[in-house]
Amino acid sequence: MLSPLNLLLITAILCVVMLLVLASLTRSGIAGMKEWMLANIVAFVALLLYATRGIAPDFLSIEVANGLLAAAIASIYIGFRKFFALRIPARLLTAGLVLTVMGVAFFHYGQNSISARIVVVSIFHGSVSAGIGLTIFSADKSLRRRYPYGFTGCIAFLFAMGHFVRGLIYASDYDPLTSSLQASSWNLLFLSIGTLVLPVYTMGAVMMVHDKMMSKALDDANRDFLTGVWSRRAFFDIAERELMRARRANRTLSLLVFDVDHFKKLNDTYGHAAGDQVLLAIAQHAAGEIRSIDYLARIGGEEFAVLLPEADTSAALAVAERLRKSLNEDIDIQAANLNTDSMLPVSVSIGAAMANPEESISELLNRADRALYQAKAAGRNMVSLAAADDA
Ligand code: GH3
Ligand code: MG
Ligand code: MG
Repeated sequence: MLSPLNLLLITAILCVVMLLVLASLTRSGIAGMKEWMLANIVAFVALLLYATRGIAPDFLSIEVANGLLAAAIASIYIGFRKFFALRIPARLLTAGLVLTVMGVAFFHYGQNSISARIVVVSIFHGSVSAGIGLTIFSADKSLRRRYPYGFTGCIAFLFAMGHFVRGLIYASDYDPLTSSLQASSWNLLFLSIGTLVLPVYTMGAVMMVHDKMMSKALDDANRDFLTGVWSRRAFFDIAERELMRARRANRTLSLLVFDVDHFKKLNDTYGHAAGDQVLLAIAQHAAGEIRSIDYLARIGGEEFAVLLPEADTSAALAVAERLRKSLNEDIDIQAANLNTDSMLPVSVSIGAAMANPEESISELLNRADRALYQAKAAGRNMVSLAAADDA
């Protein structure tokens, strides 16, 4: 038989199950995990205390149990705030918690009313759920369309609505209760939905942690560690895809390859750390010079590639010349063996090539590389265009 007591025990067990799932993710080191785990432990204790109604002192099954369950949902909320590295409104939460427990105590020892206690508790839980929804939907606009975030945010608003409806029903005395564990239809309905709250929030949190880990793993694989531009590996994937797309749409595709001039000397004179700073500055400068549809990648030590979709030779040469000019300037570095900031003159040589019909990416790259070599041989700090028939 479905009874409120059964539902409380099922929820308590679900908290333990979700705690075990969360425990599998502690290695992720993602912010929010501790708070979500704590929430499930606290909720487990609170639910057992609810279930002792009539056996243990009322103070434990009413004030302490409600206070702990409210603290658990607050801890879930704090976990989501930490996940997004957002400020935690500690005073507001504490005030809400204190008022909730005071309200519950007032409608217990002062004017004894189960309905009024439910209203007080529903206002707190509904508000925190709305806060969770708002946090998820306003934290990072680019994420809200992603399933784990959309799911958890929507669920939070639904739970908020459920709590407020529950508050309204008991505020209007529509379902008068003589015991909080009474098996009235409304009470059973709300308790049934209530069993889902903590486990579903935890499930949403777990999905979000997974998504964050996956994004980080993809970033680690596809981004160059030093400069943050595309890695060599990602560059080949992107270039293959863009080459196919250009062939399908009958569009041009060009490639620039550039290499820092006399970089070895710079490294030898100012140290490797200064060399790294120059590489980072060059990547940032170059990223500022290209269009949003272009791809900048670091394909070797001090060698970069720029893939230019929809660019023919003259467009590619124009971008190359702009890049060369912009990178031919003094870069501000703090070399380890210099006491003050130092401006280092830097220049790059660039090879440009437009993709031939039926040419592979590595053939295109080879042609651009040979053009780069010509630019080096001709004196550096210049752009050279690969011949279309340079096989
Ligand atoms: P050129 O004008 O002909 O290109 O001369 P270069 O000295 O730049 O060419 P070379 O290929 O001989 O030297 C490249 C140097 O780049 C060698 C290596 O020490 C340095 N290098 C490669 N990767 C890194 C890196 O990640 N950081 C730093 N600081 N230096 C790097
Ligand atoms: Mg070089
Ligand atoms: Mg080189």
